[in-house]
Amino acid sequence: MSWIPVRMLNEIQYCERLYHIMHVQGLFEESADTVEGAAQHKRAETHLRKSKAAPEEMWGDAPFSLQLGDPVLGITGKLDAVCLEEGKQWIPVEGKHSASPEGGQMFNVGVYSLDGSAWPNDQIQLCAQGLLLRANGYESDYGYLYYRGNKKKVRIPFSQELIAATHACIQKAHQLREAEIPPPLQESKKCFRCSLNYVCMPDETNYMLGLSANIRKIVPSRPDGGVLYVTEQGAKLGRSGESLTITCRGEKIDEIPIKDLIHVSLMGHVQCSTQLLHTLMNCGVHVSYLTTHGTLTGIMTPPLSKNIRTRAKQFIKFQHAEIALGIARRVVYAKISNQRTMLRRNGSPDKAVLKELKELRDRAWEAPSLEIVRGIEGRAAQLYMQFFPTMLKHPVVDGMAIMNGRNRRPPKDPVNALLSLGYTLLSRDVYSACANVGLDPLFGFFHTMEPGRPALALDLMEPFRALIADSVAIRTLNTEELTLGDFYWGKDSCYLKKAGRQTYFAAYERRMNETLTHPQFGYKLSYRRMLELEARFLARYLDGELVEYTPLMTR
Ligand code: SF4
Repeated sequence: MSWIPVRMLNEIQYCERLYHIMHVQGLFEESADTVEGAAQHKRAETHLRKSKAAPEEMWGDAPFSLQLGDPVLGITGKLDAVCLEEGKQWIPVEGKHSASPEGGQMFNVGVYSLDGSAWPNDQIQLCAQGLLLRANGYESDYGYLYYRGNKKKVRIPFSQELIAATHACIQKAHQLREAEIPPPLQESKKCFRCSLNYVCMPDETNYMLGLSANIRKIVPSRPDGGVLYVTEQGAKLGRSGESLTITCRGEKIDEIPIKDLIHVSLMGHVQCSTQLLHTLMNCGVHVSYLTTHGTLTGIMTPPLSKNIRTRAKQFIKFQHAEIALGIARRVVYAKISNQRTMLRRNGSPDKAVLKELKELRDRAWEAPSLEIVRGIEGRAAQLYMQFFPTMLKHPVVDGMAIMNGRNRRPPKDPVNALLSLGYTLLSRDVYSACANVGLDPLFGFFHTMEPGRPALALDLMEPFRALIADSVAIRTLNTEELTLGDFYWGKDSCYLKKAGRQTYFAAYERRMNETLTHPQFGYKLSYRRMLELEARFLARYLDGELVEYTPLMTR
């Protein structure tokens, strides 16, 4: 039996779905708060070990922390501070950021009634710590909860009622480990305070399941952090406390709090210390490596979530011809639709082209095989790229066409240089989104699978190519943010110069942070959040929670 951390008993009392996401699926993601919380915890622990004196008056004498487990209960936990009182009692102590309840009422937990002086989930977590102490031979009849929100210390006796409620909670936790994800709460205020509401997406899920028409704005519009690009050749990245430091030739260039980052992209000869890499992985910050030309050579992500069941379903379902075809049809339909919208809004294609794109889009919806979907997608891409220059303000500069069809490996003109770089960054971001939700980015349903090829990332990015990478290329050229002077030509190739790359990265990130209204949910989300949402919905579809997967289409 694998053991359950006692802190998860707190989550299960808050919401069983939250427990499942965090503990069973392992999709706990570091947010600014959790990183800061972990840092505080570490600081407190260091202080305790060094001083051997309580940093807070409530901790009494001789506090320390203990790592305990019990195979019978099947729980384990690190007890923050344990005090020895009255010479024999071992007292677990748990600090909370929140304020204690008003008191005066009782809380019902299933068939059990718990005292109202502390939140029932906190009482159960503390009691489980007491049970761990007892199971390991210590006497423990009560503990303390300290609520920092209103600086209140609450003594919690481990009554028979509380012990029974705790045992029931532990039993439920073990049952849920084997169960599918519980449905979201409906219209609950808890969801606004839930640390993983943007993973759970309660109202969106209920909406798609037809259980509710009301979608509250719970999910934040933008991700918590930004992407750091390091392009300075010879730069060295290290860690100082909770920050990432950049030095170059012995001079410190920058220092950035790690909690402000979601991704670090290193271009060319940039070094990164092992200590920093450890911290970035622990904080869920992905690291990608690109050549100076912008070719992606690798991505480092934290281990894929332990939710092996979703990946197992991914492997099974994507090999099922009907299922793979069904998703591929929708993705290609959305891709062609977005390409057509892009051309219609920004270019001047013949009416016949728009008509053909519409026909191709509709044919994709009913295509009888993956090969036919691929053929339709290829024809649409050919048409779209043929008329791509109509979206450029100056398709010819000094007598030279800045785009000659789609070419790559290497790109041969400025537009293709931007498209290739944009698609690389997009595949990097979709790869990260897949890894974040626990999907294997290499195992796809549409692109043929080749060793090392991130087929799923390439599949999922299809509808976003026009919306993100193509849009950035068009904008930077049309606004003359980038000019021909920002490019250099090699033998049969064309790339951005260093300054041009920095301009492009800034423009790409601006686009990723731009918001658009979600066509189904009606609220605004950044493109980066939208990518994450797509990957999550695909995972939910594979899990069987959603009956279909609908990729993003703009109107
Ligand atoms: S958002 Fe709501 S339903 Fe989802 S896990 Fe959190 S509390 Fe539960």
